Amino acid sequence: MASKRAISTALSTIRANYGKYPQWADEVSETWFDGLRQFADREVLDAVKYWRNAEAKAPTVANIRNLVQGNSEPPQKPIGCRRCTGTGWVEIAHHTAGKKGQTSTVKTYVAGCDCPAGQRLCRGPVEEWEAFVDRLRGDPYTLRVYYSTPDHPFLSPAERTDPETLERLSPALVDKRLPGKWNRVKPKAATDGL
Ligand SMILES: [Zn+2]
Repeated sequence: MASKRAISTALSTIRANYGKYPQWADEVSETWFDGLRQFADREVLDAVKYWRNAEAKAPTVANIRNLVQGNSEPPQKPIGCRRCTGTGWVEIAHHTAGKKGQTSTVKTYVAGCDCPAGQRLCRGPVEEWEAFVDRLRGDPYTLRVYYSTPDHPFLSPAERTDPETLERLSPALVDKRLPGKWNRVKPKAATDGL
């Protein structure tokens, strides 16, 4: 919201640059404030500055309004989706069995979503999530792959962490009623496992 002070500054600039008579700013200040109060101070002052550099004739309040509205259109941002919560990023967790006697591990990644926001990321060095998940599934050591879905965009701690670490850090998240190492981690119905 524009302040009276910013409007007053804008009018002083116009008066000085376009040779308005001394009382002009006071006479029009109410009209200008009403016409521009919805905008930010910076927008109004930038528009006046732009006009001063570009136009030989003094602006009307409508000129400045149009200028601000033309300049304040939101930049074209691609639309995201529920899977990536609008960010374009899909979260992926890869659970692998221990290689050569090591314990099982979990690595987490982000990849590009298949919506417009994600596609914009994928035009750069980012890989699309489905191809990435397929590759992880092709690893013979893979136990499970979890990834963001529209109904479950953020992976749970159990999905991001290997069972031993999870039990050590957050025992409350481990369901002790179920037998077996993997089954002790609460299953997440909404996520696609492998
Ligand atoms: Zn998306």
